[in-house]
Amino acid sequence: MRRSILNSCKRIVVKVGSHVVTAQKTGLNVHAIKRIAKNVLEAKELGYEIVIVSSGAIVSGIQKLGLTSRLTSLPLKQAAAAVGQGHLIRAYDHAFETAGQQVAQILLTNDTMTDRERFLNARHTVTALLKLGVIPIVNENDTVSVDEIKFGDNDTLAGMVANLIDAQLLIILSDVDGLFSEDPRHNPMALLIPTVRKVTAEIEKIATGAVSIEGTGGMTSKVETAKRMAVSGIPTIIINGKRTGSMSDVLDGKEIGTVFLPQKVRRANRKHWIAFIRRTKGKLTLDSGAVKAVLQRGKSLLPAGVTAIDGKFDHGDAIGCVDKKGHEIAKGLVNYSSSDLAKIKGRKTGEIKQVLGYKDYDEVIHRDNMVIM
Ligand code: GLU
Repeated sequence: MRRSILNSCKRIVVKVGSHVVTAQKTGLNVHAIKRIAKNVLEAKELGYEIVIVSSGAIVSGIQKLGLTSRLTSLPLKQAAAAVGQGHLIRAYDHAFETAGQQVAQILLTNDTMTDRERFLNARHTVTALLKLGVIPIVNENDTVSVDEIKFGDNDTLAGMVANLIDAQLLIILSDVDGLFSEDPRHNPMALLIPTVRKVTAEIEKIATGAVSIEGTGGMTSKVETAKRMAVSGIPTIIINGKRTGSMSDVLDGKEIGTVFLPQKVRRANRKHWIAFIRRTKGKLTLDSGAVKAVLQRGKSLLPAGVTAIDGKFDHGDAIGCVDKKGHEIAKGLVNYSSSDLAKIKGRKTGEIKQVLGYKDYDEVIHRDNMVIM
C-alpha cells in the first residue's frame, strides 16, 4: 500500500511541528533543521517536489526575546512570531544554502485560502517556485492573523497547502511515532496503529485522548487534517520527526508511523477547495428528506428541505449543512444570502420568485458546489 502511494506521488507537503525544530528553553534547533533539509534534499534527488510547512516562529521568538512565561496575549504571541519567523527562515535558508538550494518564504492567512481568487494566486506562486526548483517554506502569517482569519494550527495549514498545490502526499513530522491505540506514556502496551483506512468516530476519540507533547493542535488536529485529506483523495503519514532517518524510511516504503489512506474518489479542484474551507460562514439544518436526497441520491439542496438557518452569510459564501441532530453532512457554496434564505426556507422552488421578487437559482446549494463530508 505504501509503495503504491509513493509510486503515484510527485508532490509532497512536509509539515514540521514546532517541537521538532525548537525547544521551549533553547529556541531553534539548528541541527534538527539541518537534518530536515538533508532529508528534503534526498527526497528532491529522488524526483519529488517538496513544499515545507514549518512551525516554530513563536517558540523561537519567545526564546529570542527572553520571554519565559507562557504567553497568553495574542499581540505578544504575534510579536514573538515576528521575531521568530526571521530566525526560522534564516536557519532553513542556511541549512539549504550549503547544498546550493534556494528556498522561499511564504506566509499565508486563512482568508487567502477561502477566497478563490487569492487561493489561485497563491497556487500560481507556489507552482512557479516549484518549477524553478525552489523549496517553498510556508508558515501562517501569525503577525496579522487574528482569530477570525486564523488557521489555528499548522496541521490545518499543511492540509490547505497540500490542497492548494495538488500534492499527492502529506507527511507530518511530529514528536511522537504516530497514532497509538492508547496514550503510550500511560499504557506501555499501547500499540502504534500503522494504517487507518477510515477516520471513524473511534479513531477521532483515540486522537483526542492521545497526548503529543507538541504545541497547538496535538493529535486531534493531525487526525482531523488527515480526515479532510482522505476525503480529498490525499494520503497522510504521521511520523516521528525527531528520529533521524524517519523521512527517508517513509520514502523507502518502510512501515513506520501511521498512514491514513485516501478515499478513492479524487474530486474536481473546485470541490477539493470547498472541502478544505474550515471556517464556514453559517449553517443550514436540513429535514430528513433533504438529507436523503443529498446523501443518497446525489441531489442539490432546494429551499424546501431547509428547516433552520444559522449565521449571517452572502450569496457565494461557504456554509455547512447539518441534519436534525447537528451532524455536518455537507459543505457548499450557497446561492442565497441568509436573509433571503430565511424568507424562502421550507418553500417550493416555484415560490422563490414570488417571495423574493427574483429567482437566480432553483437550488440553495447546487450539487456542483457541494461536498459531502
Ligand atoms: N505558526 C506557529 C509558529 O510558527 C505554529 C502553529 C502550530 O504549530 O500549529 O510558531
